[in-house]
Amino acid sequence: MKRIFTLIFIPALLLIGCQSEDAGAGEGEKIEAVATIAQIADIVENVGGEHVEVKNLMGPGTDPHLYKPVSSDIDAMEEADIIFYNGHHLEGQMNEIFGKMNEEKPTYAVAETVPEDLLASDPENPEVYDPHIWFDIELWKYAVDSVTEGLIEADPDNEEEYQNNAIAYKEELDELHTYAKDSISEIPEESRVLVTAHDAFQYFGEAYGLEVLGLQGLSTESEYGVNDIERITETLTERNVKAVFVESSVSEKSINAVTEGAAEKGHEVEIGGELFSDAMGPEDTEEGTYIGMFRHNIDTIVEALN
Ligand SMILES: [Zn+2]
Repeated sequence: MKRIFTLIFIPALLLIGCQSEDAGAGEGEKIEAVATIAQIADIVENVGGEHVEVKNLMGPGTDPHLYKPVSSDIDAMEEADIIFYNGHHLEGQMNEIFGKMNEEKPTYAVAETVPEDLLASDPENPEVYDPHIWFDIELWKYAVDSVTEGLIEADPDNEEEYQNNAIAYKEELDELHTYAKDSISEIPEESRVLVTAHDAFQYFGEAYGLEVLGLQGLSTESEYGVNDIERITETLTERNVKAVFVESSVSEKSINAVTEGAAEKGHEVEIGGELFSDAMGPEDTEEGTYIGMFRHNIDTIVEALN
């Protein structure tokens, strides 16, 4: 009897203690989470539901490879109960702060939970993994599991709800995966070539059957040269590809160099539209959700290459 009393009573006392110090989430309080990119914030919102408040650090059009945290980001991370970031050096300027935060609170690198044998490496630096895993939905589900695990650790009382939300979200992702496969297969095989400014779509190409060519490397920090333009315009001409794509978080300048290079070879290539690569669309729009962003990319690619 005494033991039962202890089991029930001690946690209740601890909970009261937590509430008065305003640390962690007590009864009726929300977990405060920080996510570095909107793709991750979207998972936190979907899995966390009403129990979690998430702040996303990088808004529409922001390039995570180059982004330097501002003081309000540091404050948000200091105040958060839990932090989720992508990892594999996507947030190239933030490693130090993640290290520091990891000593203070649960800090999860969601992309780093994907088994290594499923990861692609950087062709230029084989020891570095490609961080853009949200573009293969099967891999992104590992990130969903990582967020779910984090939220349960931070707030075990709502475990069942987080688990159920995760299952429902992954079902939606499965539908999206099928939609992507079916849609891309409508493009004539020869024209399944995706040209963008930086190499964000390696996993996407692998998963959905497109050859992917990026002018810059995996990070927008890398430079491109005449050889890169030559390499890409050659493929465009050979395979009679009609369009290349702008990325919402990268300047148009580089992709314009490709259309100009192709024109010099006598091959007309148009800009097929804007794709969301490392950032998503504005909040409160369809493209501001992971699923809406992904569908936008698929529809834009299929329309332009068909
Ligand atoms: Zn990128």
